[in-house]
Formats: sequence, structure tokens, C-alpha cells
Amino acid sequence: MDRVYNFSAGPATLPTAVLEQAQAELLNWHGTGMSVMEVSHRGKDFVELAAHSERTLRNLLAVPENYRVLFLQGGATLQFAGVPLNLAGPSATADYVVTGNWGSKASVEAGRYLKVNVAADAKDTKYTTIPDPASWTVSDDAAYLHYTPNETIYGVEFHAVPEVSAAPLVVDMSSTILSRPVDVSRFGVIYAGAQKNIGPAGLAIVIVRDDLLDRARPETPSVVNYRVMADSDSMSNTPPTLAWYLAALVFDWLTEQGGLSAMAERNKRKASKLYAAIDASNFYQNPVVPAHRSWMNIPFTLADAELDGAFLQEAAAGEFANLKGHRSVGGMRASLYNAMPEAGVDALIEFMAEFERRRG
Ligand code: PMP
Repeated sequence: MDRVYNFSAGPATLPTAVLEQAQAELLNWHGTGMSVMEVSHRGKDFVELAAHSERTLRNLLAVPENYRVLFLQGGATLQFAGVPLNLAGPSATADYVVTGNWGSKASVEAGRYLKVNVAADAKDTKYTTIPDPASWTVSDDAAYLHYTPNETIYGVEFHAVPEVSAAPLVVDMSSTILSRPVDVSRFGVIYAGAQKNIGPAGLAIVIVRDDLLDRARPETPSVVNYRVMADSDSMSNTPPTLAWYLAALVFDWLTEQGGLSAMAERNKRKASKLYAAIDASNFYQNPVVPAHRSWMNIPFTLADAELDGAFLQEAAAGEFANLKGHRSVGGMRASLYNAMPEAGVDALIEFMAEFERRRG
């Protein structure tokens, strides 16, 4: 069976080599005579897998010693609540920078637990840019400042870490983690849902600086309590073992690809090609200010929205899946995560040019 180029924003395409390995060892993992889903998470084989996975991820991201890496459940969305519950009491204030839907959702959820100050909101630009950090209204006493380095729906991305607040920076890296090197030491907490650059949906990675492990409110559920999960190697309850296993295979694959510097080069090249093709045409358009365009999610519209249906139909009849844009933006969106091969981007660009010639 032929695989298609899957441009989904998430759950997203995974490396074929990873899926093949998972398939090959599904019935008999590591000579256990069982699948990885059927072994005890406390057994030697699985504990080794978990340790290897964490080590590999730490190497990829060059995570400093004074940070803990947690593998949690509930996707990124549970962390929208986990962040305020772990970091501050109900009378505290936290700054939120809203550059799209996800930052907005995070701020609304946090508002149930503490005082949220929306330090900036790019809504009036239809989320096509990142407001200049100098214009943000940060609080003097914020428990933390939260932002979303890459907004998956609008395709708008921070290309530098903002320096506006002394408060710890907390970031939702769901749609950009592992796409390039980052300086982890700039952040208090990094969290990410796994279904874009890591593995199956439901798993969330949380990287927490040690000094932020012990601020949780007593009522914080233990499965999202940083200290509880750090002390139990993220096994205070039964972990989603299949998701951990697949994430470990993806981390190994990334290492084989040359790590995050190699991924950054490849990702930048893939995105630049597609933006160049869009910008060179009068038929396709991307609304995001060039300095803040995402490498990962590229929304684009056709000059005539009446042709959207035909575009998607022909794309799907070919080898391209999931190019439909998010319902709040319309048009198309191509997500170019790590596992999207450059050949997929080349083929898409060719298809777009050919569609424009016939229908533009
Ligand atoms: N944050 C961002 C940036 C996202 O893209 C998504 C999912 N698309 C979420 C949070 C929500 O993640 P989950 O569905 O895993 O809770």
C-alpha cells in the first residue's frame, strides 16, 4: 500500500521508518514474546526504554541538568490547567501573550485558577503577526509569562525568545518542539502535546526547571503535579506505554537524522520553498507577516475560494492528504513537521503550479 504525503496539523505524519520498526516488532518486542503494550511498565525492559527515551530527548534538546523531563497525559490541553496549578496560587497574576487560538485557550483555562493579564493579543491583525514585545503590558509581579512559540492554526511563529519580563517564561511548544535547537535555559517550563513532532496524541512532554517543581497547590491532581511526576519518573500511574515507545523511536530517528541542527536546516529549506512558491504566484497567498511566518504550519488561500473544493479534491486524488485549512481561517494549510520529507514539499509545489496553470 502506498503512503500519501500527509500535511495534517496533528495528529500528523510520522517517519515511515518508525512505523515500519513498530510494525516489525509489534508481536514480539525485544524478545519478550509480547507487544510493548502488553508488558509491565515496571518491568526491566520497559523501564530501560523509558530511561533511554528520556536520555535521547535530553541529548536532542541539550536539556540542562537542572531541568526535569516529564512524560504526562491529557495532551497539551491538560497543561493549560497544569501550568497555573503548579506555579501559583489563586490570588497570583500570570501574563499571557495571545497570538492565536491556542494561546487564547491557554489563557481562558488559566483564568479559572488565577488572575490572567493578557499582556498582548494580536486579534486585530487576525493573528498574522507577533506584537512587538516592547508594546506588551506585562505585570510587575507576574508568577510567569506564557506564550505560544508557534500558533498551529494561523501559522505565526516567534523566531526569537522575547525579553520583556523577569518572570519565568512558560511556553506551549506543541507545534514546534524538536523542529530546531532551542536554548532550554531561557524557559521555566516547556510543554508540548506529542501529536506533531513526537508521536501519538494524548502524550505531553513537560520540561520543568528544578526551582519550579515545588510550587503546586495542594489540590493539584497528582497526574499533573510536576513534583509527584518527577519523583515517580512519570509513572505515578500507568503511563501510555505505546505512546512512550513510539516517542522513543521518533527520538532515535531524529538522532539518526543528525539531530536538531540537521532538522532545522531541512525544515527551514522546506518552508522557504513553499513560501517562495506562494509569494511568486498571484494565485496563492499567505497572509502572515514574513518575519513571523511559521516553518511548521503554512496556511494559504486561492485567489478564487470557489476553487477550494476542486483543489482539495484533486490533491486528495493525487498523493496529498489533509490540506484543508482550519475552519476558522479557511483555505488550505500545509503542515511541514519533521517527518514530512522534502520530496513531499517539492511534489506539493509542483501540484500547486500545475493547478494554477489549469485553473488560475
Ligand atoms: N497547543 C497547540 C499549539 C496546539 O497546536 C494544540 C493542538 N493542535 C494544542 C495546544 C492542544 O493539544 P491537545 O489536543 O494535545 O490537547
